[in-house]
Amino acid sequence: MWNFDNSYARLPESFFTFIEPFPVKSPELVILNSSLANELGLEESYLKSQEGVEVLAGNRIPQGALPIAQAYAGHQYGHFRMLGDGRAVLIGEQITPSGERFDIQLKGSGKTPYSRGGDGRATLGPMLREYIISEAMHALGIATTRSLAVVKTGEIVIRDLPLPGAVLTRVASSHIRFGTFEYVANFCDPVEVKILADYTLKRHYPYLLESQNRYLDLLKEVVKRYAKLISKWQLVGFIHGVMNTDNMAVSGETIDYGPCAFMNEYDPATVFSSIDLYGRYAYGNQADIARWNLARFAETLMPLIGGKPHEVVELVQETLVEFDRLFKKEWLDGMRSKLGIFNEEDRDESLVNQLLDLMKEYKADFTNTFRDLTLCRNNGTDMYESQGFKTWHSKWQERLKRQKQDSQSSLELMKKSNPSVIPRNHRVEAALDAAVHEGNLRLTEDLLDVLSDPYSYTDIQEEYTDLPPISDVPYRTFCGT
Ligand code: AMP
Ligand code: MG
Repeated sequence: MWNFDNSYARLPESFFTFIEPFPVKSPELVILNSSLANELGLEESYLKSQEGVEVLAGNRIPQGALPIAQAYAGHQYGHFRMLGDGRAVLIGEQITPSGERFDIQLKGSGKTPYSRGGDGRATLGPMLREYIISEAMHALGIATTRSLAVVKTGEIVIRDLPLPGAVLTRVASSHIRFGTFEYVANFCDPVEVKILADYTLKRHYPYLLESQNRYLDLLKEVVKRYAKLISKWQLVGFIHGVMNTDNMAVSGETIDYGPCAFMNEYDPATVFSSIDLYGRYAYGNQADIARWNLARFAETLMPLIGGKPHEVVELVQETLVEFDRLFKKEWLDGMRSKLGIFNEEDRDESLVNQLLDLMKEYKADFTNTFRDLTLCRNNGTDMYESQGFKTWHSKWQERLKRQKQDSQSSLELMKKSNPSVIPRNHRVEAALDAAVHEGNLRLTEDLLDVLSDPYSYTDIQEEYTDLPPISDVPYRTFCGT
């Protein structure tokens, strides 16, 4: 059952505001994540009961909860702003039966002091979208916040159109963002940055608490986690879409699924977000942006890192440069695995890049290209018929022969490294459409089912590998949802 210990609410008052979610008219459970409920030590039957649904809607505060809205700031598209939980409330930190700690946050729970003119509410489509994509990312093996449930509120929320309101229950190892540090460093007492950093170390990096220069080590660890995280995004074609510093968790989990989407045709310039007019957050920019964001996080830690100012600057710069090296290594290792390569050769990077160049030239689908290579199948596209690809293919085959592992082991490595299904935009949209406009959850449930096992290669996955219908209108995603 609920087993709260609300450590964030014991931090300095300037870090948050005590506020309860605003009750909604008639809560109705839309979807519940039973396996996650189980991991959290919560009973499915309770969460489905009237009392459970009232909790998930914010109409009832469970025993031991201490709801707060967290303060944070952030660089949005490069511009620094005060933000904060404007439509979310952290109801408490659940300690699981295995002793882990998770934030239980209601998103769409009403206005807070940080709402800045917004209505504090969320709508069904985007909350289900976050549920589907975050759970897909988890199944893909990518660090992420999770989704426990979506409830309809029985209220209408006005966006461009009147839409059904909803609340998502988000589960995260914490909601401490780069922007939380930016808020405290800019608007609070200097000693409070140390308090936040020590809290973060204790919560996420306890093995660093005793280290000589623990704040520099904190930065180094966050850099490492981001090198891993962003490389994993790249390797599955995930585009976050709104990599503002307030949407970067210090835990290294993917957070805030707004205008995110998966790439179909391989093109580093791919952008889906309707407001990302200049492609700041394009697929091919994600590592550079992560480094930029890490620099903003690093600035908040600099006063805590001992040494003369120019020495601190140098240490921080070295750490940020290290991000590029680590990211490149993680990415290249991941690409080798996608191609069934176990060992390292100098020319591997060029082999990978030659394939990517061909994929770009022939507008090849990112996921299906690697899936077809895994299945050793000529998919009959122009790329496969081209001389360039044939030459590349034989180079790749020769490369595979230069390692001691046999072809069966290579294929197994490829299967583990190349998802056969991803949440394709047209599939996600069709599921959301049926849920929002017809109240029909069948497509959503079927999609979640197949996405829960993305590295299997059966007929069930095959059905979900279809490409979107060709359209003149590019796929667009939206923020402010
Ligand atoms: P996001 O685009 O979800 O990362 O949100 C950026 C900022 O806008 C955060 O401070 C959110 O809390 C706030 N925000 C987004 N939507 C709303 C809303 N409907 N009402 C109030 N604040 C919101
Ligand atoms: Mg956000």
